[in-house]
Amino acid sequence: MGYSFEETPIEFLKGVGPKRAGILKKELGITTFGDLLVYYPFRYIDRSKFNKISDIDSDQSFVQIRGKIVHFETIGKNRATRLVATFKDSSGYINLIWFQGLKWIKEKIKDNTEYIVFGKPTFYNKSFNIIHPEIEEIETEQDIIAKGLQPFYSSTEKLRVIGLNSKGIAKLTRNLIDNIKGSLNETLPEYLIQRLKCLSREEAFANIHFPANHIILEKARTRLKFEELFFIQLRLMMAKIVRNIKSKGHKFSIIGNTFNDFYYNHLPFELTNAQKKVIKEIRADVATGKQMNRLLQGDVGSGKTLVALMSMLMAVDNGFQACLMAPTEVLACQHYDTISNMLDGMNLEIELLTGSTKTSKRNKIYENLVSGNLKILIGTHALIEDTVKFNNLGLVVIDEQHKFGVTQRASMWEKNIIPPHILVMTATPIPRTLAMTLYGDLDISVIDELPPGRKPVKTCHYYESARLKVFNFMKQKIKEGRQIYVVYPIINESETLELKDLMDGYESISREFPLPEYAISIVHGRMKTDEKEYEMKRFLKGETQIMVATTVIEVGVDVPNASVMIIENAERFGLSQLHQLRGRVGRGSDQSYCILMSDYKLSTDAKKRLQTMVETSDGFIIAEADLKLRGPGDLQGTQQSGIIELRLADLAKDEKIVKFARSIAEEILKEDPDLKLKKNYRLLYQINLMSSKIGNWSMIS
Ligand code: ADP
Ligand code: MG
Repeated sequence: MGYSFEETPIEFLKGVGPKRAGILKKELGITTFGDLLVYYPFRYIDRSKFNKISDIDSDQSFVQIRGKIVHFETIGKNRATRLVATFKDSSGYINLIWFQGLKWIKEKIKDNTEYIVFGKPTFYNKSFNIIHPEIEEIETEQDIIAKGLQPFYSSTEKLRVIGLNSKGIAKLTRNLIDNIKGSLNETLPEYLIQRLKCLSREEAFANIHFPANHIILEKARTRLKFEELFFIQLRLMMAKIVRNIKSKGHKFSIIGNTFNDFYYNHLPFELTNAQKKVIKEIRADVATGKQMNRLLQGDVGSGKTLVALMSMLMAVDNGFQACLMAPTEVLACQHYDTISNMLDGMNLEIELLTGSTKTSKRNKIYENLVSGNLKILIGTHALIEDTVKFNNLGLVVIDEQHKFGVTQRASMWEKNIIPPHILVMTATPIPRTLAMTLYGDLDISVIDELPPGRKPVKTCHYYESARLKVFNFMKQKIKEGRQIYVVYPIINESETLELKDLMDGYESISREFPLPEYAISIVHGRMKTDEKEYEMKRFLKGETQIMVATTVIEVGVDVPNASVMIIENAERFGLSQLHQLRGRVGRGSDQSYCILMSDYKLSTDAKKRLQTMVETSDGFIIAEADLKLRGPGDLQGTQQSGIIELRLADLAKDEKIVKFARSIAEEILKEDPDLKLKKNYRLLYQINLMSSKIGNWSMIS
């Protein structure tokens, strides 16, 4: 019929007509056989394993029991509020409780019928209960779809209505798997399957849906996870190879006067060894004649800005222009100020371009860019606009890289005929597996050392009851001449309620720290840029002692005299954000402090986050912990970027497979960089297929 097995429209599957097809598409996005194949079960029932009611304990995260309902009771006077069923097995009784869907449950449940019940036991009112359990009739022999573990699929109300509850979906999947033999394309070469001793693709799909036991299920999962991760790695590495071979880069052959003048006469401090190492790596890279694509990782405060500046000076020395792009206006301004100060007396043109640059100024900048007089441009994403044209752009530095989307980054490539070198810098370290997957095509440099004389920030966690103590501590520190940040969470700047928290906090601090003895700055995202800037400057100059702010100060600001960071409602921040905020202090020579204020009620995850903050200041450890707690989903803007879509593999848990997949990809491409060998034809086919779906990847950075 012309379709491959996977592309076959779902309505051609036995059991799916046009109506079901329509609803499957709407509810689950399933339109083809292939979509259904990767609609994996979220859980399996092992029919051979049941818990005894008498053994149940509320520590168990779930139990599976088998028995009958012996009594039903609807609770609530006029309106039923709750349905309680007494469920019995040979060992005892337990209550099943429903608060919703009572009518449906009552109709569905029959007397004297054996059920399998699944759920989390809780202990309440002196007895064990399962609230909103899954409940299912025991099937008769001929009804059984799966012999071993029974798959469970998530379903929706609309699907259930047309008979596609978990079991209904399982029936469809069964039909699909029964048809699969010999029809499904294998994606891995035979030699690789043999070497990895893994299941074939067909076997893997059959066994992830209908596994005979846990061992084969694990094998199926491993094979499919490997496949997901392997092709990502293969693609990234091929993109890198293509770039290295095909795309020419600007050659920065010399280290010249500008760099040397700066290094010998203007450098405000000795470089750390890590900074030296990284600058050498960059230097070597830009001298090859190939385009550099490098990720610079370093903890907050490790001195990435200086590395960025010195890299830009290399460009200037070789007759090129360079630019530095920051994610926020505040940060761009700060970079501009810092860098202007450092370059003071060097006779080098540098400008700042942001969304709020006045038209006359802007036009002048454009002119100087085109003529080539302007060597270094610092700015926000205003730099990306088409109107910004360079004479000869040789290097783009992107700070806090994850704040920019893939396309934004790629557009910087087009600012010169031969694409400029790209140096992207992270705000905080990225866990290895994530770096490999997200930035697998980049070379990585790491600053793994902080400038000397930094004392680790002392971090503690307090509740509201310690408020007075905290105020007193603040007063003492101000007396010693230090400055203080107080940060409030505003996740969404448009949320009035959150803004109210900030304003309330500001008021109570103003009462406690009155004029004229004290002066307070306030900064939040709703303020105009020049207002923000004015307040920041006052704090920077030491005219105010306290800065009350939202997370607009999160990235990059640098006030070495500020030695106390107070984070309100710390439980509402993510780990990397907390770490970023803490990085604002501890920049001077004084002992610094980070005080995490929180609500009394904390979720387990929030507790872990705060505890991690108190225990460690190592950004790499925090990044790993963050990945484990949050999962990779919302890290680093991966979701928006759409670069990785993992259905099974989990970057937090499958580190081994990620590394293994990478090493295999490396090995294969070493022998066969274009995948032209006959034995690798399946790989080439797959890569081409992916490219046609997602587009060209060689320019993602
Ligand atoms: P980040 O890596 O977080 O961007 P910055 O570049 O803002 O860090 O640097 C943090 C602070 O450390 C700045 O005040 C900067 O001047 C200072 N700094 C950078 N390098 C050194 C160094 N080698 N020795 C001492 N201080 C340094
Ligand atoms: Mg920085």
